[in-house]
Amino acid sequence: MLIFGNLKRIAKVADLLKYAKELSKLFLSSDNILLICHINPDGDAIGSQLALFHYLTNSGRNVQMISPNNLQEFLKWLPGSDLINIFIRQRDHCKTIIEKSDLIILLDFNQPERLGEIMDILLHSRAKKVIIDHHLNPKAFADITISDPSKCSTSELVYELLACLSNKPFMTRAIAEALYVGIITDTGNFEYGNYSGKTLRIVADILDAGIERDRILGLVYSNFSEDRMKFQGFALYKRMVLLPEYQTAYIYLTRNDLVSFNNVKGDTEGFVNMPLSIRGIRFAALFIEKDNFIKLSFRSKGNFPVNEFAAEFFSGGGHLNASGGEYKDTLKNTIEYFLKVLRENFTRYNPK
Ligand code: 5GP
Ligand code: MN
Repeated sequence: MLIFGNLKRIAKVADLLKYAKELSKLFLSSDNILLICHINPDGDAIGSQLALFHYLTNSGRNVQMISPNNLQEFLKWLPGSDLINIFIRQRDHCKTIIEKSDLIILLDFNQPERLGEIMDILLHSRAKKVIIDHHLNPKAFADITISDPSKCSTSELVYELLACLSNKPFMTRAIAEALYVGIITDTGNFEYGNYSGKTLRIVADILDAGIERDRILGLVYSNFSEDRMKFQGFALYKRMVLLPEYQTAYIYLTRNDLVSFNNVKGDTEGFVNMPLSIRGIRFAALFIEKDNFIKLSFRSKGNFPVNEFAAEFFSGGGHLNASGGEYKDTLKNTIEYFLKVLRENFTRYNPK
């Protein structure tokens, strides 16, 4: 599904070329272009942002980048990542950039809340706003929404748009590296079932650009601290609970656990996927105790729609097989609530 529209009108059009042409016109007519990704940016948010940044810069456009908060270590080697302005570190500078922009491209999210503190400033900005994203159910807060949930990643969608709008070869090594990181991180290095033959043809084009695949895989996947590795062992050994009758497993982490293992941003990423490797488990949940709420992550196999589960019970959303949400209560009460809604709704979510 592709959506193209404005605040009042969202029409479905199945023609990528049309969006690409529209984007191309906007790129040419805008003096100051700004690319913004979502809070706690993952590999796809940063990958799609940097790929578009390099493309536009190579085309002679004036481009700035903002992330609502810091990048994780495994992304900081990407060429251009040091040029991303971090909102929580440079609020005034970032506000000035937003005020001066006449075109703002929002990458890898479709709800304004994912902008964190930037949300209000962005919604009041005079700039033309374009969303490029692959999550379900976009909110119509931008002038143009280019949304395709059939894509494995926003990076894949950015590749297709660039392929359509560019009249000459656009792939450079920096663009290829950024797109590769976006695609491997959003597909779990091609482990999740969310990629297509077309994705792999795009990856072939990326590899042909001469990227050092093994080096990149090492930088992205073999970059854990000792604490993080031990934390993973602890989480699986001491904090994982199996509910075989619901084909479900959950992991809970207390604030003390986080402190004990010197947790830094990103350390718990991937924990929620691990129970799905247990035979018979189709639904996995991770509870993390924050200062005044519980952050939840959900993963599933097959057709168990964790985005709907997160939206119905945990004020969240996401994709069919990967979603998240939150709950404002104690860890104990949140787990009890989770068990209750799981018992009451399991058959509806996981029909025989
Ligand atoms: P993760 O579990 O890696 O934090 O998030 C997985 C996916 O779930 C993300 O790609 C994002 O789309 C979605 N997600 C995570 N947390 C939230 C949330 O609080 N609200 C919404 N709407 N989506 C979320
Ligand atoms: Mn993504």
